[in-house]
Amino acid sequence: MFDRLNELPADKILALGAAFKADPRPEKIDLGVGVYKNPEGVTPIMRAVKAAEKRLWEEETTKAYVALAGDPAYADAMIALILGDAVTREHIAAIATPGGTGAVRQGFDLVKMANPDARVFVSDPTWPNHLSILKHMKMETIQYRYFDDETRGVDFGGMMEDLAQIRAGDIVLLHGCCHNPTGANLNMVEWKAVVEHLNAVGAIPMIDIAYQGFGDGLEQDAEATRFVAANCPEVLIAASCSKNFGIYRERTGLLMAVMQDASRNKITQGSLSYLNRQNYSFPPDHGAKLVTMVLTDEALRADWKKELEDTRLTMLELRQQLADELQRLTGSDRFGFIAQHRGMFSRLGTTPEMVEKLRADHAIYMVGDSRLNIAGLNQRTVPILAKAIVDCGI
Ligand code: PMP
Repeated sequence: MFDRLNELPADKILALGAAFKADPRPEKIDLGVGVYKNPEGVTPIMRAVKAAEKRLWEEETTKAYVALAGDPAYADAMIALILGDAVTREHIAAIATPGGTGAVRQGFDLVKMANPDARVFVSDPTWPNHLSILKHMKMETIQYRYFDDETRGVDFGGMMEDLAQIRAGDIVLLHGCCHNPTGANLNMVEWKAVVEHLNAVGAIPMIDIAYQGFGDGLEQDAEATRFVAANCPEVLIAASCSKNFGIYRERTGLLMAVMQDASRNKITQGSLSYLNRQNYSFPPDHGAKLVTMVLTDEALRADWKKELEDTRLTMLELRQQLADELQRLTGSDRFGFIAQHRGMFSRLGTTPEMVEKLRADHAIYMVGDSRLNIAGLNQRTVPILAKAIVDCGI
């Protein structure tokens, strides 16, 4: 049987990480994989998470299974964090999932179960895993224009033109904030126009929110998701705690199904729990418990918010420093978009050849589509990157 398997393409971003590790040049800079690193190059365990972990170790008395949907206290805490008071609880079904990826996967599975004919519209570009999961699930996928290579902002005209093709029951995948890989985001006027269009057609938004707190702030980054949840008849929301709690390997996510017709909640919740059962049975609980403790304990929550805000501001400062340095070196505002982008990533908007040149000549690693992880920089390396960009003639 195994001889029938074909070699599959390696995940490009993970392969880049391996190439970086193998590079002997001491001055090398890793702007590849999407993990937050502090200025010392460390992905820290957040203080509040560490404190919760210590408390959990002392207080936890059993490792028995929790529930197919995960701990309801976790769902409640996360729903409050993401949706605030935009929607009341009886309108939301939710399951804990292994990471945001698990939530995305379970969301697609729910779509497939409810409406096998649904087509999924995703931004061009999007997080590559969206595309590979959809391909693996054999779901029809259509890309809509999103990034304007000239302005390095959102090509909203192109996006709306492409979304004119959607039909009732289709799914439109949107990044709640901090678009990966571009860093370019819709403004609220644009979100409103998208919602109006989806509602007019009867298409369903699915929001992937993996970076709440990394862009403009915890509340601001949730604004669009809250707006969509409050204004569309049905919405799917896939959330990740990997970045904003720094618990990547704990695999902590949540899938929400938000519906205006609360009478559908029991069946929707049952379907979500059923999908967990079929795919991996009980979802992981350790990370979910830490998140619940941090969000529900006043002191831990305050400390977590402070550290998350410091993280966000560090990335914003690096963005500004890089944009300023490039302005100084080139005498033009061409790279001003770096300061306008939000989240951990920016798409530089250059060719794969230039990305390769940066790697070969300057030991600077970024993803082939010219996505760079801002958190891979620090005050010392920003000028090195800026000079390399200019030297390469980008
Ligand atoms: N969605 C997007 C857009 C992401 O960038 C990520 C993380 N790379 C995820 C979802 C999910 O991450 P995880 O499964 O690690 O929680």
